[in-house]
Amino acid sequence: MRYVIDPPPQASVPVDGEEAAFPVRRIWCIGRNYADHAREMGHDPDREPPFFFSKPADAVTTLDVLPFPTETQDLHHEIELVVAIGTGGKDIAAEDALNHVYGYAIGVDMTRRDIQAVAKKLGRPWDLSKGFDQSCPIGPIAPASKIGHPAKGKIEITVNGAVRQTGDLSQMIWSVPESIAYLSRFVALAPGDLIMTGTPAGVSSVKPGDALHGTCDGVGSVAFTYAPV
Ligand code: MN
Repeated sequence: MRYVIDPPPQASVPVDGEEAAFPVRRIWCIGRNYADHAREMGHDPDREPPFFFSKPADAVTTLDVLPFPTETQDLHHEIELVVAIGTGGKDIAAEDALNHVYGYAIGVDMTRRDIQAVAKKLGRPWDLSKGFDQSCPIGPIAPASKIGHPAKGKIEITVNGAVRQTGDLSQMIWSVPESIAYLSRFVALAPGDLIMTGTPAGVSSVKPGDALHGTCDGVGSVAFTYAPV
């Protein structure tokens, strides 16, 4: 195929222990998947069906220093376990879901909370609050063939060394297999899809110059700094 302009570069994420990278197709994100975070956002955490939004594939970034996003006075971190889909499928059964997973990473669903609040109030889409450039800092993907399928383990993020969010993967309202099964009823999942699985409580504002460091036991870490203005 020839194109009238140069095709865009393939978004990708490094893989632990591999020279080859993981190509990113889409980024699906689950909202309010930890009860204590649902409560802090003013919602009842009862087991209502999960809901999803997305970020563009090229929102992933592995830069050490990120430009501070424009058009926000309230940029929030959301530390999340990220699932990397290796094998696609539609109407995937929960019992079969983990066979579709290539690996896991730790990522941050950066959010312009002020823009999101306006969108929620007016019933508008969330795209510009969630899907902006470099809105998905992510660490290397750990293959499931090496680490298995983590269902528990501490997940945490510090800002300038101080703990802001801490939780455990076992606190997810919808497990990874359940989330894959549910999402695949609405879209055919495809190799290269990433699923951000929601964030524990403690989301808070960051500013230019802040250094963020996220970790998840048994999975990996992500670290980056916002450039001072
Ligand atoms: Mn999130």
